[in-house]
Amino acid sequence: MDNPDVIVVGAGNAALCAALAAADAGAKVLVLERAPEAESGGNSRFTAGAFRCVYDGVEDLRALMPDLTDAEVASADFGTYTEGQFFDDMGRVTEYRTDPELCGLLVTRSRPTMRWMQAQGVRFMPIWGRQAYRVDGRFKFWGGLTVEAWGGGPGLVDTLYSLARAKGVEIEFGAAATALIADDEGVHGVRVRQGGRTREALAKAVVLACGGFESNTEWRTRYLGPGWDLAKVRGTRFNTGAGIEMALAIGAAPFGNWSGCHAVGWDRNAPEFGDLAVGDGFQKHSYPLGVMLNARGERFVDEGADFRNYTYAKYGRAILAQPGQFAWQVFDAKVLGLLRDEYRIKQATRVRADSLEELAAKLEDVDPAGAMATLRAFNSAVQTDAPFDPNVKDGRGTVGLAVPKSNWANPIDTPPFEAFAVTCGVTFTFGGLKIDRAARVIDADGAAIPGLYAAGELVGGLFYNNYPGGSGLMAGAVFGKIAGESAGKLASG
Ligand SMILES: Cc1cc2nc3c(=O)[nH]c(=O)nc-3n(C[C@H](O)[C@H](O)[C@H](O)COP(=O)(O)OP(=O)(O)OC[C@H]3O[C@@H](n4cnc5c(N)ncnc54)[C@H](O)[C@@H]3O)c2cc1C
Repeated sequence: MDNPDVIVVGAGNAALCAALAAADAGAKVLVLERAPEAESGGNSRFTAGAFRCVYDGVEDLRALMPDLTDAEVASADFGTYTEGQFFDDMGRVTEYRTDPELCGLLVTRSRPTMRWMQAQGVRFMPIWGRQAYRVDGRFKFWGGLTVEAWGGGPGLVDTLYSLARAKGVEIEFGAAATALIADDEGVHGVRVRQGGRTREALAKAVVLACGGFESNTEWRTRYLGPGWDLAKVRGTRFNTGAGIEMALAIGAAPFGNWSGCHAVGWDRNAPEFGDLAVGDGFQKHSYPLGVMLNARGERFVDEGADFRNYTYAKYGRAILAQPGQFAWQVFDAKVLGLLRDEYRIKQATRVRADSLEELAAKLEDVDPAGAMATLRAFNSAVQTDAPFDPNVKDGRGTVGLAVPKSNWANPIDTPPFEAFAVTCGVTFTFGGLKIDRAARVIDADGAAIPGLYAAGELVGGLFYNNYPGGSGLMAGAVFGKIAGESAGKLASG
């Protein structure tokens, strides 16, 4: 495209929300995507498309999902997810470090931004399968995560691409931004490498939405710490911190939790980077229903500390810290039917046995005697007076163990037994750039850099130590929309 008004770097959810908003503000928008078309869409394409958003009741959900039938509404208890609940979750999981201004925007703009996406043409549906268990014939939703994009991440990205193209946005694939073109007046464009050639692309405003640095082994080790070179990457291989690096090079301020990241239990034999054919199927998120054992056969986290939405993003780090960087998740027949779909993929590293002794012997690289001792101690520590209920924090815990299990504890005693091997899969990094309420990138002296905006994973300050599931796409949409509006206004003003 000749003479674009706004260049958006990246082509994931944050980038496309920025492109749509800038186009709506009257700007000619060029999207530069480093990946070839078949691998485009960043981590957003790898997701299941879950969005954490505020709703005060079923009417808010009906506004977002007009396809919901009366029968579906009658069959479900959606509860609420109020601004207060979202604020509480962000505060609690980030240990009250989240930046109040960014967090305030994320929470208060979540509902209007979802409505905006829906009005743009994105379709949403309830997360029937993964965020609700059926109780007495009704689906009960839990954990504040109720809505996902139709078709998951691939559906979301493809829809955003076609909506953007319909507004005249051009998307170039295999086009990597390598540097910002900037002077004392601000940013005027980017240097682009495409097909082995480098060129300059000029514009009135640039939106950086090209992901974190999770796919950069060297930066992971440098900033997250020793051992992080050994983690597997859950998503795209193209998020190597280029946007952060380009902005820092012209004086942008680093911000947020640079030593922190989102990392989960991920199949031990998964490839080094994500595989779009499997998507998020390598994750193994049903550990609250069982126990996790390390190479010594010991437990090392409270698997039932909270709903998985509030623990999964930090337990990858705990697994990475174990000898050999792996663990086995162990379940018995009582809960096998409750395991998430990802446990049934053919690529799962699984063993099955009819006795605990046989299972312990089959856990590759685990001390069987240690495993048996742990399982016996665990089984006799379970307090069975509180009934097991996976929809609520049931308080059915253990007593007397050095590492307790606080909820959903069941003796592991009913054959057949199954175990799944996991390692650490890094999702995205928490540190990045500093932005203001208008998504303008802030420099190291606290001033906005004219013409430069940022959104998505490469913005720092929202997440520290941990993360409430579904907030990544929501944050990308909220700040992508703001960045696109600001850039579009500047460019067409
Ligand atoms: C397996 C998996 C499942 C997940 N599930 C969920 C979920 O259900 N809900 C949720 O909220 N979050 C989920 N996440 C997290 C979520 O993917 C991210 O928070 C979100 O997608 C980030 O969006 P983004 O637009 O910032 O980055 P991305 O979607 O990663 O987009 C970054 C883009 O920048 C491009 N790029 C990189 N460098 C350059 C460059 N130099 N020049 C041009 N382009 C460049 C990349 O190719 C990519 O297109 C999941 C992540 C993974 C990996």
